[in-house]
Amino acid sequence: MYKNSYIHQDNFNKNIPFDYRKYEDKTVKKSGAKIPLDTNKKSVRTPSQKDTKITHAFRSQLYEMRRVSGGFKITDKDYERGYTSVSCCGRVPVNDNGDTTPINVVTGKETGNIYYNGLMKCGSVWRCPVCNYKITQQRKKEIYYLTSEFMRKSEFNRISFITLTMRHKSTYPLKYTLDTLLEEFRKFQRTSVYKRLEREHNIKGFIKSLEITVSKRNGWHPHLHLLVFHQSDNIELLHREIKQKWAKRKKINALQKNQICKEVYNKAGVTDYVTKWTISDELTKGSFKLPKLNKNEKGITPFQILSQLTLGKNSIKEETELKGYLGQYFQYTHGKHLIHISKKLLKDLKNSNIDTTIKSDKEILEDETPEKILFKIDKPVWYEVAKYNYMAQILNNYESKGVDFVLDKLKSNFPTLELKYNKQLKLIYSPIKNKENEKIRKLENRNKDIINAIIHDIGNSYYDITRTLEIRQ
Ligand SMILES: [Zn+2]
Repeated sequence: MYKNSYIHQDNFNKNIPFDYRKYEDKTVKKSGAKIPLDTNKKSVRTPSQKDTKITHAFRSQLYEMRRVSGGFKITDKDYERGYTSVSCCGRVPVNDNGDTTPINVVTGKETGNIYYNGLMKCGSVWRCPVCNYKITQQRKKEIYYLTSEFMRKSEFNRISFITLTMRHKSTYPLKYTLDTLLEEFRKFQRTSVYKRLEREHNIKGFIKSLEITVSKRNGWHPHLHLLVFHQSDNIELLHREIKQKWAKRKKINALQKNQICKEVYNKAGVTDYVTKWTISDELTKGSFKLPKLNKNEKGITPFQILSQLTLGKNSIKEETELKGYLGQYFQYTHGKHLIHISKKLLKDLKNSNIDTTIKSDKEILEDETPEKILFKIDKPVWYEVAKYNYMAQILNNYESKGVDFVLDKLKSNFPTLELKYNKQLKLIYSPIKNKENEKIRKLENRNKDIINAIIHDIGNSYYDITRTLEIRQ
């Protein structure tokens, strides 16, 4: 359902500058204005507003995955604080120093999406499915824009899609395979062979994404996907040489047939690649039904594992195994780039007058300007909502049937709060909690107490990964 929503055909005229930002403009969509047809009638997938609209099931699933992920203490910092930044993401208010301002549910000015205003965001692209989704959605648009513009600039421009792997065994720890892969790729770029290829095929640079899968039979399988921008007049030769030279490297020791190089002829090919690393696709595959880990030689992604864990249908043995994989993954991806655009490429694109403005992760995660406050949730009520992970349901309920429905559902799920709605203030509040809150307010360290209370319940389910699964080499 979600997956199909962005597969639609569009064409664009080469004479009109293409700008995805205009493409998202609601007024353009409403008036039915279309970019003129291109004569070669290639089918093109373009990111559109539909692309960023999420279904209720998908939202619930993402939030649930974030909850499970937030339970993994991995870094020293996690241990020091006693909680993870992922567990605060989308639950703890940004201003929480005794501040009693309610949490607002708002619509965004640009996208029209509804969201909670002013909650912490963790920005952990490897650990948090919600932040990952937001960041990769934006990257997808940026890459789409850069590739499209590059292809339009010159008839000699080419883009190749290249997958580089390395030999892996079930006994290799992730740290080893991951470090080796990244280090070897850095070294490969400094070799005289690569420098020659750069000259001979006029390689402009690349966009690289790191993907990691795991299977019981073959262990960890980190690999690189590259979009290489070039002007080769002998693409087969370029591909053959890259495959040979990469696979031959001692530490890589990979089979040549597993190195995939293909020319991306049209934009459909580009977006095929681009969507590959978005979890939207991973999640929609087979409606979250995942293959059993041991039967699947191809391997599954850590987010698929996370999704499997949210189902809570695993045996204790399976659960331990899955959490063990996730723990390693969270630990060793820390600080690594998910998507990286080479400096050389950015410089070249800029020289060709292509707008290379790339948003930082932080900029992407910033709340967009609210257009309208739909309703507010009083802080004491919010803490209960956050504690029981009811965040997704509220947004879903509002989208389905409005604020009355939100209130009904909250009342039936939190009967002890005796919730009320003040129409004038647009505020959902609890008279009982307000009284309790008065008492708490008098306590010192109120802020700390409340944060602890919120994360306490998931704190109990923390999986102590670094202490049970020390991997030393
Ligand atoms: Zn997050």
